Amino acid sequence: RAKDHGRNTYRFFEAEMTERAIQRLHHETALRGALTRGELSLLYQPQVDLSTGRIQGAEALLRWTHPELGAVSPFEFIPIAEEIGLISEFGKWVLEQACLQLLAWDAEGFRVHRLAVNISVQQAERIDLVDEIREILQRAGVAPERFELEVTESMLMRNVDRVIANLSALRDLGITIAVDDFGSGFSSLGYLKTLPISRLKIDKTFVDGVTIDDNDDAIARAIIALGKALGLEVIAEGVETPEQAAFLEHEGCNEAQGYLFGRPMKPDALRQLSLERG
Ligand code: C2E
Ligand code: MG
Ligand code: MG
Ligand code: MG
Repeated sequence: RAKDHGRNTYRFFEAEMTERAIQRLHHETALRGALTRGELSLLYQPQVDLSTGRIQGAEALLRWTHPELGAVSPFEFIPIAEEIGLISEFGKWVLEQACLQLLAWDAEGFRVHRLAVNISVQQAERIDLVDEIREILQRAGVAPERFELEVTESMLMRNVDRVIANLSALRDLGITIAVDDFGSGFSSLGYLKTLPISRLKIDKTFVDGVTIDDNDDAIARAIIALGKALGLEVIAEGVETPEQAAFLEHEGCNEAQGYLFGRPMKPDALRQLSLERG
């Protein structure tokens, strides 16, 4: 009967919600100890010049491996870390770790010219962000020019004074700013002329459809043209096929990142890949 059916569906729904809430609580509790237990690590994904195929830089991507939960996706744990106020602490660790890695590679004679790290909105709004980054770089003796911060479009569109001031100060230090997932929040482009941006990263959702879907071709082409017109570098993320790479290169996209060139990998693997590519 319809009424019973509705009630059962509701019960099922409720049980599922409860289970999800419990799982979420588990994740929260586990995440609070992740840093001190040494469960965080970074992987590095190459960013290559589309015309020469050479590695120009890399993006550092955070990983969390819990002894029981296993590897948890950043798409899952980053939002939790943001919500429970852990992200700034994690972000600081990411920057320190990335600096140490650059120095380690330097010592091995492997020069990574540019290392990109992601920052979340909570970090971008912090009053002490600039001082913190300056200190980390100074202590490590790493030139700010070798660092790029990836911020998302949605973060910039909120037009928060503190974020604008921080990014401008970081740019003055010599750090470059890239807009990650560009195109995914396409509702206003005004921020592009007021913010200190150097690079656009074409969102993977458009790259996925390139050479298959005419609309994605048009959007990718438009983003590349926009970047050119504004004097910004353009990098495509999530490039998986040679056809996508050929299209993007033909349209004038500068760089690409994606499984075609390499997955996020351990530091040694990136060095090895660079040796192979020359
Ligand atoms: P993102 O910054 O847009 O990073 C790109 C994501 O796409 C990465 O996922 C990368 O592994 C994946 N990817 C790259 N190329 C390909 C491809 O060809 N095919 C497919 N299917 N995927 C590709 P990942 O590492 O799981 O990170 C997910 C998101 O988590 C990142 O998206 C970023 O927003 C966030 N994140 C990762 N590390 C950090 C961090 O240290 N701090 C902050 N605040 N966020 C981070
Ligand atoms: Mg990114
Ligand atoms: Mg991205
Ligand atoms: Mg993305």
